[in-house]
Amino acid sequence: MDEKEDLNYPSYAFIALARRGMEKISLDQCFLKNCDNEDPNLIEPFKKEVVKDEKKTVEKIHIKCKKCNRIFILKFETINYVAKSTKDKEEKPLSIGLIYALDENEKNLGHIGYF
Ligand SMILES: [Zn+2]
Repeated sequence: MDEKEDLNYPSYAFIALARRGMEKISLDQCFLKNCDNEDPNLIEPFKKEVVKDEKKTVEKIHIKCKKCNRIFILKFETINYVAKSTKDKEEKPLSIGLIYALDENEKNLGHIGYF
C-alpha cells in the first residue's frame, strides 16, 4: 500500500446548526490556539494511527502546521453499529463519524464536527 495515499483524510467536516441544517467547514486548517493557518499547502499530514475494536474505529492523523510549526492531531471516530446499505449506493447512514482535534500531547481541543 502506498503510505502517502494512506494519509488521506476527509477535507471537510459538517457541523450541525440548530434547526438550520449542516454547515461545511474545511479540515485543511490548523486547529491549534493562536494560529489562523487555513492554507492547505502549509498543512502536512505525516502519520496515521488506526485503532479498531468491536464498537468503533478510531483513526488519528498527525499533522504538522508549517505556519506555527506545531503538531496537531485530527481524530476520526466511526461507530461501527451504523449499518451500511447494500441496496442503494446513494443512501448514507445518518450517523457517520465524529471528528475531534487534539494537540500534540493528545489533549482534546474539542469536537469539530461530523464526517
Ligand atoms: Zn498552526
